[in-house]
Amino acid sequence: RVKAPRPRRPKVVAVSNQKGGVGKTTTAVNLAAALAQDGLGVLLIDMDPQGNASTALSIAHDDDDLGIYDVLVDERPLIRVVKECPDIPGLWCAPSTVDLAGAEIELVGLTHRERRLKQVIDHLYSALDRSRRPTPDYVIIDCPPSLGLLTLNALVAADEVFIPIQGEYYALEGLTALMRTIGLVQASMNPDLAVGAILLTMVDGRTNLAAQVAEEVRRHFPREVLRSTIPRSVRLSESPSFGQTVMTYDPTGTGALSYRAAAREFAHRDHGASTSDEGDVR
Ligand code: ADP
Ligand code: MG
Repeated sequence: RVKAPRPRRPKVVAVSNQKGGVGKTTTAVNLAAALAQDGLGVLLIDMDPQGNASTALSIAHDDDDLGIYDVLVDERPLIRVVKECPDIPGLWCAPSTVDLAGAEIELVGLTHRERRLKQVIDHLYSALDRSRRPTPDYVIIDCPPSLGLLTLNALVAADEVFIPIQGEYYALEGLTALMRTIGLVQASMNPDLAVGAILLTMVDGRTNLAAQVAEEVRRHFPREVLRSTIPRSVRLSESPSFGQTVMTYDPTGTGALSYRAAAREFAHRDHGASTSDEGDVR
């Protein structure tokens, strides 16, 4: 397989699905790690107050650590908050601390409340560029399980949404609200936002049901669904408790191999997809 290519310009990807437990964080950290291992510069922004992505990347995110909250609410420069991941050179993380939960409310009273993340990412790029330091090829945003202001900030900042779906019976049902939100953001705040990829996660390859669900999702989103899928794997679920992604915790296992394949497929594909079939989802 060919390594992941460098995108033509820095690409901002929001990993989102308002349903919890579908594999957003697992996908965000392993996609980020796989791209970084292919030599790309990747910044992961943890926008979930639970901070699971920060944990998985071994980035300190206690009360007294600076995090994305300080950037969004207190206007600290993003560059002061990002830290390099100890295991994976080229992978940087802006961690989330618990106070981020309050940002959902605190942002309401601030100017440009839904554009703050976009502004700080743009600002980081120009600051790095001006000082002739390398800019990231990808900014990957791990979204919380809701469609509130934190997710809205991610969707306004993003070029693409990356949607993990759990390969289970009601997989498509939860997508209606997300697709509607994406449509609203496209109509008002970010006309260029695209659905870049849909990834089937926690697929149990042995069951007929899994195959049926995969087929149905592909029927609704023929262009968006990645050919690669992510199987259920104990290694994937236990790696965060060792402060690692599966890419370093079990680099030759099925979890790492499937995320590497998904990352390369994602990086290679043509990014012209849009939210077709939006009205059909149910
Ligand atoms: P979300 O961020 O959408 O809430 P997570 O990525 O945190 O979802 O995943 C939910 C749970 O499922 C976590 O405990 C995670 O470790 C586990 N998990 C995610 N993907 C897999 C997989 N492919 N196989 C087994 N467990 C998984
Ligand atoms: Mg999560």
